[in-house]
Amino acid sequence: MNIYVNDAEYIAGTYARFPLHIVSGKGALVYDETGREYIDLQSGIAVNTFGTADDEWIKAVTDQLKLCQHTSNLFFSDPCVLLAKKLCGITGMKKVFFGNSGAEANECAIKTARKYASDKYGAGRHKIITLENSFHGRTITTLAATGQAVFHKDFTPLTDGFTYAVPGDITTVEEMMKSGETAAVMFELIQGEGGVLPLEHEFVKALAGLAAKYDVLLIADEVQTGNGRTGKYFAYMNYGIAPDIVTTAKGLGGGLPIGAAILGDKVKNTLTSGSHGSTFGGNPAICAGALNIVSRINDELLSGVKRKSEIIIDKLENADGVKSITGMGLMLGIETQREAADVINECRENGVLVIKAKNKVRLLPPLNIPDDLLTKAVDIIARACAKQ
Ligand SMILES: *Cc1c(COP(=O)(O)O)cnc(C)c1O
Repeated sequence: MNIYVNDAEYIAGTYARFPLHIVSGKGALVYDETGREYIDLQSGIAVNTFGTADDEWIKAVTDQLKLCQHTSNLFFSDPCVLLAKKLCGITGMKKVFFGNSGAEANECAIKTARKYASDKYGAGRHKIITLENSFHGRTITTLAATGQAVFHKDFTPLTDGFTYAVPGDITTVEEMMKSGETAAVMFELIQGEGGVLPLEHEFVKALAGLAAKYDVLLIADEVQTGNGRTGKYFAYMNYGIAPDIVTTAKGLGGGLPIGAAILGDKVKNTLTSGSHGSTFGGNPAICAGALNIVSRINDELLSGVKRKSEIIIDKLENADGVKSITGMGLMLGIETQREAADVINECRENGVLVIKAKNKVRLLPPLNIPDDLLTKAVDIIARACAKQ
């Protein structure tokens, strides 16, 4: 079978794939159909937290698969409860709703915010503030939440009730909140798809202060930034705030689909029987794997993330052809003199996988990538950046 021809013929044309056919991998290495090796600095877009085909995670998933692969949410099951308890322990938050993706985690957060406001204040307080240049998902509602017009066109009308503020513009946020129509403010601490752009500390603190003042819920979209990616378990922990809802997905399952909305004290009892649900949400095998992943994101691993981040920054920040580096931990964006796409292609041709975020080269390596592989990969990136 010619994969390129058949993919073009049978797969919906939503992805501009790189010309690379990955068939296997181990840790931070992946292999194409000819056996050629690549150092993977994208982890399936921050999904493969401990790289490809991690032994411990495979064992956790397969042990559970052999017991029972699915129960439906009409019955009790251990792995999802253990995972929820673990996430509450890490965050100090109270309850968890499990879905299957980042978009669904955000949908749950949005529904929770609307119900919280409606339970407490009645109708008319349904608006959600999000930020310009944000990304929150591809469903009609999470597209509405996404503050980028380019994703909206062709799909209107989108879900009503979203208003966009410019990151840093706290005055406009306060105006919006004052009107008494706002249920929540939702934001990524580091805008990932938007170009690996961290929010300013001062802005985030001010946002949290206003949210508390106006009883507007603070929703941190940690779909990409969560699960150790930035050097803390969640990125909000770098900012000293306490969100009311934290959504996460990508890295949580270590490679299998799961999303979670973690609910704080204010909203712990907002969702009631029948108000939300998911057939696959809380799947036992995926949750057993996620529990293994979450349990391994400990202080030692997190200090490793920070150290590896410094290895990358030290090598690249003054390198030829590098204009700037943004991001935190192992979520970094490199602004290059050359077109990012050219650098990315050249890296791949030389055995290193990196991806794009807007005009930047985006690095999202596995959190446990060995230092020697990382160093080797970064040298290849540096050469690609320096080339005229
Ligand atoms: C990827 C992403 C989403 C969407 O997640 P899916 O699993 O693709 O639905 C939402 N928010 C952020 C910040 C993301 O990076």
